[in-house]
Amino acid sequence: MSKKGLNSNEVKKRNRSKILKILRNGKDVSRKDLSDQMQLTKAGISTIVSEMIEEGVILETGSQENSGLGRNRITLEINKQFGYVLGLSLTETHLTLLIANVLGETVDVYSQAYSQLTNIETESLLNLIIEKSLYLLWSHNIDKSLVLGFGIGYIGGLKNIDLSRIKIEVEKRLMIEVVSDNNVKALAMSQMDFTQEEESENFLFVKYGPGLGMAIVQKGSIIGGVDNRAGEIGHTIIAPHLDTSCRCGRKGCLESLISEKGIIKDLEGIGGDYLDLILDKGRSIIDYQQVNKLLELEDETTLSIFQPRYDYFAKSLANSIILLNPEYVCVYGSIFNETEIFKMIHDRINDYLGTNTNVNLKLSNLDLNNSARGSVALALRYTFYNTGAFKESIIETLKTL
Ligand SMILES: [Zn+2]
Repeated sequence: MSKKGLNSNEVKKRNRSKILKILRNGKDVSRKDLSDQMQLTKAGISTIVSEMIEEGVILETGSQENSGLGRNRITLEINKQFGYVLGLSLTETHLTLLIANVLGETVDVYSQAYSQLTNIETESLLNLIIEKSLYLLWSHNIDKSLVLGFGIGYIGGLKNIDLSRIKIEVEKRLMIEVVSDNNVKALAMSQMDFTQEEESENFLFVKYGPGLGMAIVQKGSIIGGVDNRAGEIGHTIIAPHLDTSCRCGRKGCLESLISEKGIIKDLEGIGGDYLDLILDKGRSIIDYQQVNKLLELEDETTLSIFQPRYDYFAKSLANSIILLNPEYVCVYGSIFNETEIFKMIHDRINDYLGTNTNVNLKLSNLDLNNSARGSVALALRYTFYNTGAFKESIIETLKTL
């Protein structure tokens, strides 16, 4: 292909991608709206739009009365049945597989606790992923050729599981392009791309429980670092003298100090009624509603367990805010839904930041029980929205990942 050809493809991709993002984020968008927002001529927009309608990527929808002029105004929308993606989330305890359309709407979901499997080695996991993916497609009568991509969101340090092999094999056996990333980064993409509330391009996305992670969003992109580990707030060193050990190999890192496993150990040490705060030891689930009540009552024992931990967390987050200067911090995790806990963390961060800086903590509106939504957003970003659903560019984009 000539250089000129490549360049015009690049421009085409960029324009198509922009159109898709505008249609995803807005309602009742007309060709004129696109031309205004993209600063392209109406004729230019019409050519691109016609091509995308012909390919079935977008649709013309019911015309709207154009107030005053008495003319009908034709609006455009993404054809949500143009294609689908599969999203897989691998956490410490669960595997969740989701199928969604190009608008990110869930078609179906399958979830399985690892404890229900006889073993969670790469090979058996791989067979399960392939089998359930095909089943989900079959049960909704979706042809495999309509699946644009397969997103995998994973947590770091999964034992016994070879992620790169899973990625290669899924791609080979299903013949679907696979994209993978850390699950917190994937969730941040879902926050950015599929929630109407997200208006900033410069924010921190923090996920708490189980484990702790952060995605740094700057100018709408997620900062990766040299090997995609930027944002690992959970493994910043807070109290090395405490000699805690962590899967990251460091001592006194934040996650080892505030993890739910440690909290459960402390609760077991105290015993009595406090054991009731442990809802599921295997999955490290704590009854935060109850914890919140006890904190409101200023129960000494509960305070002694949780206050120092939230203090460590606040200190690390305050340092991240000072370093990265975000517009706000978007927090994701069940603890943030509890008012007393939220207030405790919020106040401590503000104490650390001092009088000249204020923190703006925003509660994420993403579903807490479905982290595979992040994997769906990841797949849609790289195989649909960033490529403009432009076949040649999908292949080029995937090569650079
Ligand atoms: Zn660590």
